[in-house]
Amino acid sequence: MQALTNRAQEVSRKPMTFMERLYIPSILKGMAITFSHIFKKQPTIRYPEQKREFSPVFRGLHVLNRDEEGRERCTACGLCAVACPAEAITMEAAEREVGQENLYREEKYAAKYEINMLRCIFCGLCEEACPKDAIYLSETFAPANFTRTGFIYGKDHLLIPNPVTEPEAYAAAKGQRN
Ligand code: SF4
Ligand code: SF4
Repeated sequence: MQALTNRAQEVSRKPMTFMERLYIPSILKGMAITFSHIFKKQPTIRYPEQKREFSPVFRGLHVLNRDEEGRERCTACGLCAVACPAEAITMEAAEREVGQENLYREEKYAAKYEINMLRCIFCGLCEEACPKDAIYLSETFAPANFTRTGFIYGKDHLLIPNPVTEPEAYAAAKGQRN
């Protein structure tokens, strides 16, 4: 048969020797390799009990920010969606009603805001484009999911807890990012 590459090797069909049939040298060789790794530094960690230190410039899951009074900062201007090279962001704007001043900082707000995490490449351009400091990439990452729709994050996933009513949850979500 004609060989497609020059990497083919002929398989040895010679009968095994007595020592080879005992498998003891091979077992000892394997055990030696195993034992030699006991004294080496572990390349793995016991996640999730242990977590690795992230780089200070690590870009993780997005957070929709609130101001110090707990109002949503996003004004649905769409600049983040325009800046996004992966076209991962979609939103629907709405007008703030009278009496909603404590909920939304600007006269216009994002009634719907979605990021498709399967498209996102975590480049951070949405954060840089935002004129309202309304979105930033946090120190956490998107957890695994079994469905594609589970990776479409809406405001229920993205909006940071209210710093006035849930200060501890807000601080935990905020992390070390300013
Ligand atoms: S991090 Fe980059 S790819 Fe992801 S939503 Fe923001 S701009 Fe788009
Ligand atoms: S997150 Fe920022 S850039 Fe994006 S729509 Fe809201 S205010 Fe505009």
